[in-house]
Amino acid sequence: MPEEKVDVLIIGSGHSGGMAAKILTEKGINCLMLNAGPVADTHKDTEVKPAYALPYRGFKQPGQLPHVFQSNEFNANTWVDEREVPYTYEPGQSYNWVRVRLFGGRSLFWSRQSFRLSDYEFKGKSHDGYGDDWPISLADVAPYYSRVEGIFRVSGRPYGIPQYPDGNFVPDNSPWTGCMQRFVDAGKAKGVTVCKARSSMGVDGLASSVNLLLPDAFATGKLRAIPNVVVRSLTADPNTGLINRAHFVDRISRREMSVQARVVVLACGTLETTRLLLNSGIANSSGVVGHYLMDQIYGAGITCSVPEARDGKSTPQLMGGGALIPRFRNINSKASNFLRGYAVNVFSSGGGVDPRNFAEYGDALNKKLEGYHGSGFYCGIMGEVLGRRENHVSIDKTVSDAWDIPVLHIDTKYTDNEFNMARDMVDTCTAVAEAAGFEILAKNYDPNPPGYSIHELGTCRMGDDPKTSVLNKWNQSHDHKNLWIVDASSFVSSGWQNPTMTILALSMRASEKLADEMRQGNV
Ligand SMILES: Cc1cc2nc3c(=O)[nH]c(=O)nc-3n(C[C@H](O)[C@H](O)[C@H](O)COP(=O)(O)OP(=O)(O)OC[C@H]3O[C@@H](n4cnc5c(N)ncnc54)[C@H](O)[C@@H]3O)c2cc1C
Repeated sequence: MPEEKVDVLIIGSGHSGGMAAKILTEKGINCLMLNAGPVADTHKDTEVKPAYALPYRGFKQPGQLPHVFQSNEFNANTWVDEREVPYTYEPGQSYNWVRVRLFGGRSLFWSRQSFRLSDYEFKGKSHDGYGDDWPISLADVAPYYSRVEGIFRVSGRPYGIPQYPDGNFVPDNSPWTGCMQRFVDAGKAKGVTVCKARSSMGVDGLASSVNLLLPDAFATGKLRAIPNVVVRSLTADPNTGLINRAHFVDRISRREMSVQARVVVLACGTLETTRLLLNSGIANSSGVVGHYLMDQIYGAGITCSVPEARDGKSTPQLMGGGALIPRFRNINSKASNFLRGYAVNVFSSGGGVDPRNFAEYGDALNKKLEGYHGSGFYCGIMGEVLGRRENHVSIDKTVSDAWDIPVLHIDTKYTDNEFNMARDMVDTCTAVAEAAGFEILAKNYDPNPPGYSIHELGTCRMGDDPKTSVLNKWNQSHDHKNLWIVDASSFVSSGWQNPTMTILALSMRASEKLADEMRQGNV
């Protein structure tokens, strides 16, 4: 029997791969999806166990997840075990790489903050001279954002602010709570616009590939999916330059297999896609693969207390809710010591305040905690990290994962631009919170290590020039016309925005273009 050649091989099943599968199969194209991890068993794998029943009493098994701040022993089966798939980094330059290999990828667990990029991001260089513009603008992506927002049911309020583009929202008419209204008013007096945030409601609280994208793809009868297989490399035909085969290993039996494909769509998440390209030695005539790694700075911020909510006086009308300050720096004027800008996540909680905010001990501390309970108010930064060529990943030939695949070495660090931005954010939010009458309990000027935001971006940037970019403006490889990359590795700048709406919109746009090119026989 002749060997089967699949029409489109999609590697990865998260937001980016799920969108590609939905669009391509709905256009009548047969797809095969490979995914490195298993399908989650939501009965067995989400069973709640008491801490005493766990070997480490709820704490983490040493070495299993040292870089995943979000992990504990209760949710350890969610994340990639770092002993199974390690990575290395430069001494003293820690990187938090947070990975999920379950079928559906990180779409199963994301926090669903949903924003569009604006032309301050797509055309950043035209605005301030730094870095490179994307080869596309908001007008190119806007129709796709609208369709994605419809599928994911993004709730939001329009503001008509160019750096916070409006979209196709489920209207958010919720009132501000008392503390939020005070913060909004104090911000206005200081020229800082505080807005409602935007978030994917999804269906039944889940806005994932497995409930919003893949069911449509499977319903066409055109999608086959194989979980638990790790793709180790792709090969190109030396005569045509086309990618012709993917080599993969069954993660449990370790059986080695391969498949021929007419087209390959990579959707492994930025850094796994890049690792696969580097291990395969393809798509890199520019030498740019792995370079310009970006994310967003998180961690810097302030903790406050609303005095009127203390001593048992917190009410749902006064406390609770969230807000977003979209980027306001470097729009109409220039900040003195940093480029680009940041947004601020604002939220208030009716719960306890972290004891680390107080200097007291023992009874005095307990009294303090009781009094402050329900009065917490928080601001956290989401800051743009500049695209720099020297922030890069490469293959560490001395370390391999559990299937003998060489691992990634990450060499990236923040610079004064990010640290100055964090300082500006903390000082600005402190001024607004004090004007609102809040007590400042703690200020943190230090961002968390790179990677913490779980928004790895860049490393296969798009561009018009094949000498300085890996992909063209349709997410198609300059070097191999049947290789398309639909995750966030195509990003040219990071922006302050959580990236998933952009990933989804670009994957939709690329997949429609690919279907067209296939129909016309160009690919
Ligand atoms: C806790 C958390 C909160 C977040 N909150 C937000 C938020 O509020 N807003 C926002 O915009 N974003 C958020 N994110 C980020 C968001 O989840 C990601 O941007 C998005 O899901 C990335 O989708 P993806 O398809 O590119 O990659 P992934 O979801 O990582 O999917 C990649 C898939 O590829 C598979 N794969 C990888 N390597 C291979 C291989 N070699 N062979 C076969 N398969 C492979 C993996 O198994 C995985 O399923 C959050 C993430 C987390 C974890």
